[in-house]
Amino acid sequence: MSQHATAHVSGHYIGGEWIDGHGSVTFESENPATGESLATFRRGTAADVDAALAAAEDAFEEWRSLSYIDRAEYLWDIYHELRDRHAELGEIVSRECGKEISEGKADVTEAWHMVEWAAGNARHPHGDVVPSEVAGKDSYMRRKPRGVVSCITPWNFPVAIPFWHMAIALVEGNTVVWKPAEQTPWCGQIIAEMFEDAGIPDGVFNMVQGYGDAGSALVDDSRVDTVLFTGSAEVGHEIADTVGGEPGKLAACEMGGKNGIIVTEDADLDIAVHSAVMSSFKTTGQRCVSAERLIVHTDVYDEFKARFVEIAEDIAVGDPLEASTFMGPAIEADHVAKIRSHNELAVEEGAEVLVDRFELEAAEIPDGHAEGHWVGPFVYEIEYDGDLRCLNEECFGPHVALLEYDGDVERALEIHNDTPYGLAGAIISEDYRQLNAFRDRADVGLAYANLPCIGAEVQLPFGGVKKSGNGYPSAREAIEAVTERTAWTMNN
Ligand code: NAD
Repeated sequence: MSQHATAHVSGHYIGGEWIDGHGSVTFESENPATGESLATFRRGTAADVDAALAAAEDAFEEWRSLSYIDRAEYLWDIYHELRDRHAELGEIVSRECGKEISEGKADVTEAWHMVEWAAGNARHPHGDVVPSEVAGKDSYMRRKPRGVVSCITPWNFPVAIPFWHMAIALVEGNTVVWKPAEQTPWCGQIIAEMFEDAGIPDGVFNMVQGYGDAGSALVDDSRVDTVLFTGSAEVGHEIADTVGGEPGKLAACEMGGKNGIIVTEDADLDIAVHSAVMSSFKTTGQRCVSAERLIVHTDVYDEFKARFVEIAEDIAVGDPLEASTFMGPAIEADHVAKIRSHNELAVEEGAEVLVDRFELEAAEIPDGHAEGHWVGPFVYEIEYDGDLRCLNEECFGPHVALLEYDGDVERALEIHNDTPYGLAGAIISEDYRQLNAFRDRADVGLAYANLPCIGAEVQLPFGGVKKSGNGYPSAREAIEAVTERTAWTMNN
């Protein structure tokens, strides 16, 4: 554990200094696998956010005047630190958010991929040469930083997502105020220490710990030029509505999903079962792209169901730090209650329950982990009806519906697209026509073929449509949200 996170109550990083801030309320980082407190943090207030925004505003002019290469230098330092401390940081992620250790390390790997990509972008700044349509003039489009960028991030990728937001915002010349999720302040603390160690100029990067009220103060302030948000649809749409009322201000919000996998009549069932298991249960179903709807052709339904159920009955739930664990705990007690209510709703709506390991057997809970927030797989089948709430509302847990369909890929797509969300989806098929139909007509931003419905590459856009996405706060497309364009025309 970092020295800041052990001995005392840790504060906020504002204007190049660690400060206690204006509030006296503290909160704990909790290990969801054991219930133990990991460290104590100051809960940020609107006054702390105000101070951080003032620091970011003050630092902007000088920061924007540096070259791309000079700005990227600070990020290269962080890139090396993320790599050098991979195993240690991966373990911290697992301890603070309960992800199995391979996933904890993958979170750190994704972070350095993003930092590498964003810092590498400094070698080819974005813009377009656009030949003028009249003689005697030169023209081009140049991008400029927007100013102060607020970053508000969720708990489930506590290292990767913050860098997906902040690395590109900073390289493009913006200053940043970041609020980590309240469940993962320890990761927030460590990331802020990395910026401090890299010597980034005071006020360019600022971090305020806290809850939704601090997040809200980071949205509703005229000094903020862009809000980058990743989290739930409820909060994201509220942010988009607030920002939409302010001319010149932008919000890019990336939100949840009710993602589906289609298994066609000719699918390779080894691939189909593997993809469904990975997508539904990895990280305990707590990722935005997790699959909660498996849409399976009637010709292969029984065999798929038997194989999927057998694995779900047997999946290893346990200590995230053990390499043999497939699924760790849920993030917190409130989330266990939320998953329970989704399971109950499915039953009320007519689900035939196939696997119910929601309450783990006492023997399955590792020694010393009785206070952990344990949940196991919940699998059900139900006759498709587009009005069922259980098929439309994101659970964000190991909760998955099997839906049998008959007919062609058009029928599968009709079921697949019939949710208010549109983040991710996959198709498992050997028929290129069906794959192409899915690519062209699935209402998602992230479409996978013969793969689990998970995974991200930094050079690709990461985002969704419909209720899932409202602009891109991460990766390549985030450049749109953190820059504005100037069309430059010059007389020769
Ligand atoms: P959340 O929406 O509860 O919280 C996200 C962040 O918003 C936190 O930092 C929180 O403190 C802050 N916040 C809460 N209320 C706020 C308000 N009124 N104004 C401003 N900020 C506020 O989400 P969570 O529980 O941390 O994460 C789970 C959700 O995130 C799921 O819905 C999941 O699908 C989604 N998610 C989406 C992606 C994606 O890229 N699409 C990635 C990861 C998670």
